[in-house]
Amino acid sequence: MRSKYFMYLCAAVLPILLSSCAAPRMRTNVPTSIMVPSVSTRGVVERHDMVHVVMPGETVFRLGRMYDVKVADILSRNGLKSSDTLKMGQKITIPGAAPLKEVIPVFPSRKWKYIIIHHSATDEDDAMSLYKMHQRRGWDSTGYDFLIDNGTKGTVAGHMDATPRWIAQKDGAHCKASNMNTKAIGICLIGNFSKENVSDEQLKALVNLVKYLRAYYNIPLKNIMGHGQVPEAATECPGKLFPWKRFWELLASAGSR
Ligand SMILES: [Zn+2]
Repeated sequence: MRSKYFMYLCAAVLPILLSSCAAPRMRTNVPTSIMVPSVSTRGVVERHDMVHVVMPGETVFRLGRMYDVKVADILSRNGLKSSDTLKMGQKITIPGAAPLKEVIPVFPSRKWKYIIIHHSATDEDDAMSLYKMHQRRGWDSTGYDFLIDNGTKGTVAGHMDATPRWIAQKDGAHCKASNMNTKAIGICLIGNFSKENVSDEQLKALVNLVKYLRAYYNIPLKNIMGHGQVPEAATECPGKLFPWKRFWELLASAGSR
């Protein structure tokens, strides 16, 4: 059971806006990334110690970026050496953690030409459970590149996870059709949108993530699609209730080409 922590709005370059009370999670090495300053409603950054449960692919470096805490402080507080590798599920105390910032790791590459949107088709999941499920399928890591939580398993709806596959910049394991695994970034929303609606938190997080990725990798709008819209893909993914009209409206609000 993960302990809860508070998250606050981060507004600026990349507002993946999340609200209060959340569960601990994190991610990894970030050659290039964006960070958003987090400020309380009174304009003061609020800090407090918190416990974070390590998710797949997370490092002390990434935890430091997300909570705005020095790596040395995290190492010292937890009796770790800089050479130590964090283990999935390991509990790490973050001393004086600032409100969580969504950090999107990006890596210079000409590989990524498409963005494919999926749903997990499961009611409850998080980065850890999906990672383990995909390993049981024989894959070396989570099949997708990014996950957007739905608030189950102690997560915060709209929180984004970058998977170890993305951090390693490996081919995907999310869409064989049209050879998309070699050229498409796979984003999976946790949930089953064949029978439930996408929450506002998840949709906003998705739009912000897609906006950032498509701008960074110069991906045209026509190359952003649901799994089921990929030529030769025979699937309903990301579910018949996925709000495409609203998604495109929100995405277009940032300009299009
Ligand atoms: Zn899919």
